[in-house]
Amino acid sequence: MINMIPYGKQFIEQDDIDAVVSVLKGTHLTQGQTVRDFEQAICEYTGAKYCLAVANGTAALHIAVAALDLPVGTEGITSPITFVATANSMLYCGVKPVFVDIDSLSYCLATEKIEKQINSHTKLIMPVHFAGQVCDMKKINKIAEEHSCYVIEDAAHAIGSNYADGSKVGNCKYSDMTIFSFHPVKTITTGEGGAVTTNDKALYEKLCTLRSHGITSDPAKMTQCPRPSFYEMHSLGFNYRMTDIQAALGLSQLKKLEKLKESRRRIIEIYNKELCGINGLILPFERKGLDSCFHLYVIKIDFKRLGKSRREVMEEFKAKGVLTQVHYTPVYTQPYYQKELAYKWGDHPKTEAYYEQCLSIPLYPTMTDEEIQIVINAIKDIIKI
Ligand SMILES: *Cc1c(COP(=O)(O)O)cnc(C)c1O
Repeated sequence: MINMIPYGKQFIEQDDIDAVVSVLKGTHLTQGQTVRDFEQAICEYTGAKYCLAVANGTAALHIAVAALDLPVGTEGITSPITFVATANSMLYCGVKPVFVDIDSLSYCLATEKIEKQINSHTKLIMPVHFAGQVCDMKKINKIAEEHSCYVIEDAAHAIGSNYADGSKVGNCKYSDMTIFSFHPVKTITTGEGGAVTTNDKALYEKLCTLRSHGITSDPAKMTQCPRPSFYEMHSLGFNYRMTDIQAALGLSQLKKLEKLKESRRRIIEIYNKELCGINGLILPFERKGLDSCFHLYVIKIDFKRLGKSRREVMEEFKAKGVLTQVHYTPVYTQPYYQKELAYKWGDHPKTEAYYEQCLSIPLYPTMTDEEIQIVINAIKDIIKI
């Protein structure tokens, strides 16, 4: 039996395990000092003023949108090439996701097409830093300011990446909030986990109450005094807390982020060099001057010219021990979105042209030279036009 090479995999060392075990041996398991330490470390790493760690990236997206208190019927703009969670977080809050076609080079939403989708109901723009390469945040922020929209960056793929000005993703220089995910396929992991960063104190306080049932235990905020109560619920929140167990892993992982980024970049350089010039194959585009921590390596294959379907090609890769994945089916074509929001295939041509050809090949820090070579050989064998 051959060992399968997955498209992504977590990176766990003994010190990560030790960090988790030491919390398990202590007295406090759920949200406590270790979560606060993890949040502080994310602030220091990104440069954001405030950070809130939560149960997963979807929860981070949900409370980020909820914290804006947008009226039902508001519209929010996002990219169709993302995980469904991005757009779903708007639906949770009564906001209608409106999609903008992607840029055919970076596969991020096309900045120049955003304004065409803005109307009097539009109050939110949610760019997704696809595969770890940042969107043009300076321009997006300017459009948002001109139309009085909030900006939430979905940086689930992009921890460790830099903006064009060299500063770190998550510093919220160009947005109201940024979210991260620490799912095992992402660059650093806490098992399940996520975070929201912001520089806005009022938003931060709102996020804190939303994370924990809308409850406050701050005596200064109690309204029913002098009735003796230990906490009061002032809004409808959730239980989206992260545990200290997860935060211990997160703290340990964050220390390795630069090392993990370097390992990923090394593999990318090898792929770029070995795979260029193959007929019918398009390699990822990287905008000049960006220092991206790539989460995915997405190739485009001209399946029509190859004369095979993507499914057949994925099976051929699998037979050679290489697992591949599709990132992503355009969100608006999901059956739920077609049924509930009347979106349809054909709505966004560049998105669909990308989707027809995309395939993510293995990229994770512990890939051995032998595994990298197996992937390269498989591509050279399979993609012959
Ligand atoms: C993974 C991911 C999410 C959701 O994160 P979870 O931690 O899995 O809830 C959101 N947006 C994008 C772009 C993602 O890749």
